[in-house]
Amino acid sequence: MTIDFDTLPNPEPSAQTGFAGSRIVRDSEKRSADSVPQALADPSCRCYLFVPGKAVLANSGTDEDAPPQILFSVEEAKAMSGRLEEAILLGHDEGAPRLAVRLDADAQALGEGFEVHDFRNLLYGGRAEPEDAAAIAQGGSMMHWHTMNRHCGKCGHESQAAIGGYRRDCPNCGSQIFPRTDPVVIMLTVDGDKCLLGRSPHFPASWYSTLAGFVEPGETIEDAVRRETFEEAGIRIGRVRYHASQPWPFPHSLMIGAYGEAISREIRLDDELEDCRWFTKAEVRQMIADEHPQGLRCPPRKAIAFTLVDAWVNG
Ligand SMILES: [Zn+2]
Repeated sequence: MTIDFDTLPNPEPSAQTGFAGSRIVRDSEKRSADSVPQALADPSCRCYLFVPGKAVLANSGTDEDAPPQILFSVEEAKAMSGRLEEAILLGHDEGAPRLAVRLDADAQALGEGFEVHDFRNLLYGGRAEPEDAAAIAQGGSMMHWHTMNRHCGKCGHESQAAIGGYRRDCPNCGSQIFPRTDPVVIMLTVDGDKCLLGRSPHFPASWYSTLAGFVEPGETIEDAVRRETFEEAGIRIGRVRYHASQPWPFPHSLMIGAYGEAISREIRLDDELEDCRWFTKAEVRQMIADEHPQGLRCPPRKAIAFTLVDAWVNG
């Protein structure tokens, strides 16, 4: 088989999704017991700050349009009750260490001059540059993983953070616990000039999007695409083609975007979807341009669902 890299889209579609484009070099093979102490002692070290599930930024308090402060010095993090002893080394940006630090204060106690954003709001609200949103997604996922793995899953003993926060060790039974990433398939099912889009009850009004679901243990990506599409919409899928992926820090998923080839047409909804129907390319173009006669819309740019739909109609 000849691998034809020349026909691949450039820039690659994954790079156009939100939470992609991190500048951080992870240096994963260099992580050691001293990683965090060394980073804290480095004057060029800067910290991303978090409260549970959210990123903390600072603003001038007077000029709403001024870009917020996203990175904080170690001294600033300490002054804001940052738990430096639990800091996670995300990696380095041009040699300068980047830490993720949780604050002891809750969001309300931060007071004036600070703003707190959930990761979705950070992505769509425009308060962070894409490379910072990507680093914050990395830090936020890691924070959640530590919170959920305080104890060893094998013996129940309290576990301890190791190698810059990228592993937890059990001092009782010696188990090593590594961060996890949960794969989710998200697929645009196509049938010639038509594609399948659905509505979950929690979607904003008028939104239609691609179907999605978790990959189960022992399942290929292709099989998960076929199973989820059949379970949610009753449509049988034949061939499956990978298109792009998107890190998704809710709390630690990787969205795997694919196209599925429909081999049946009749929709049969399960309980997960409020509605699901076939849309023509012309209709989808109207939805992207916000010109659909019934006001129907697609998910916004930076969402991998948009990447899939946009590449299909315009690519
Ligand atoms: Zn143990």
